[in-house]
Amino acid sequence: MQKMRALVKERAEVGLQLQEVPRPAAPAAQEVLVKVHKAAICGTDVHIWNWDAWAQKTLPLPLVVGHEFVGEVAACGAGVDDLEIGTRVTGEGHITCARCRNCLAGKRHLCIKPRGVGVERAGAFADFILLPRPNVYRIAAGIDTEVAAIYDPLGNAAHTALEFDLVGEDVLVTGAGPIGLMVTAIARHVGARHVVTTDVNPQRIQLAKAMGATLAVNAAQVEMKTVMQQLGMQEGFDIGFEMSGNEAALRQMLGCLNHGAKVSLLGIFTQPLNIDWNDIILKGITMRGIYGRKMFDTWYKVTSMLQSGLDIAKVITHRYPLQEFRTAFEQMRSGKSGKVIIDWR
Ligand SMILES: [Zn+2]
Repeated sequence: MQKMRALVKERAEVGLQLQEVPRPAAPAAQEVLVKVHKAAICGTDVHIWNWDAWAQKTLPLPLVVGHEFVGEVAACGAGVDDLEIGTRVTGEGHITCARCRNCLAGKRHLCIKPRGVGVERAGAFADFILLPRPNVYRIAAGIDTEVAAIYDPLGNAAHTALEFDLVGEDVLVTGAGPIGLMVTAIARHVGARHVVTTDVNPQRIQLAKAMGATLAVNAAQVEMKTVMQQLGMQEGFDIGFEMSGNEAALRQMLGCLNHGAKVSLLGIFTQPLNIDWNDIILKGITMRGIYGRKMFDTWYKVTSMLQSGLDIAKVITHRYPLQEFRTAFEQMRSGKSGKVIIDWR
């Protein structure tokens, strides 16, 4: 049996192990074997590394983890006639059921039983990954390979940002982690007037400025009233993107939204919230939960925006060879980074 290198959650404990594991079998019908070139660390992978309560109840062990990657087609199963060996590809990390009401209606991002690559089935932190053909996404010529490695979280950002019309609107982004940073850049790219991004981490506030925020502010130190005065805003933010999963940040957002504002929520809260729902009701606010990416409209738009000048390269702040994966994870866990890439070759 052929072997390959992989980062594996072997036991119920903190960390991951670099191991030799069996290489996936030859692809079955409508499956594609992808050789991984670069992978990126997601917040989800940090939860898995930390072996927190969510990871403990979700992962089957042992498991090859990881789901953000770029690589090339290594082999195609029967019936895959539109990809060639060597085609540069990435993958959609949610394997949808294809049977539920939403899947059948073409709304696969709302599948009731999605299975997560690198969470519930073997992932991309490996020399090879096997995926169903529909989950394999061809990378257009001219797209930077590192950017292609983060199409998955960039798709989360695009799904969040494009849910509402941003043209000429004032946008508040709470949370400048990697996806909040990419949301900031997209909001700027598609024509928002002001994009204000908040965080409490000085490095991330700096990155938000680099990604195109009109203002990037420390939410613990600056009143939103002051920010609005500084920008000459009279009424409130039209659009909110909640990326932090932080209750205080959501409360602050609700306090400075205009009547009729619209909010996309992507940050995941670790406990039930204590917020005043009357803020939402009396201001007529629309709240929209965001999960995953629209398959594959989000992917199409990500490519189109990159081809028309969207620049998110600055969100990638660190790169490590596979052998230094521990350092890569430490960097990501420190909060002093944007996206961290692991080079698999
Ligand atoms: Zn489904």
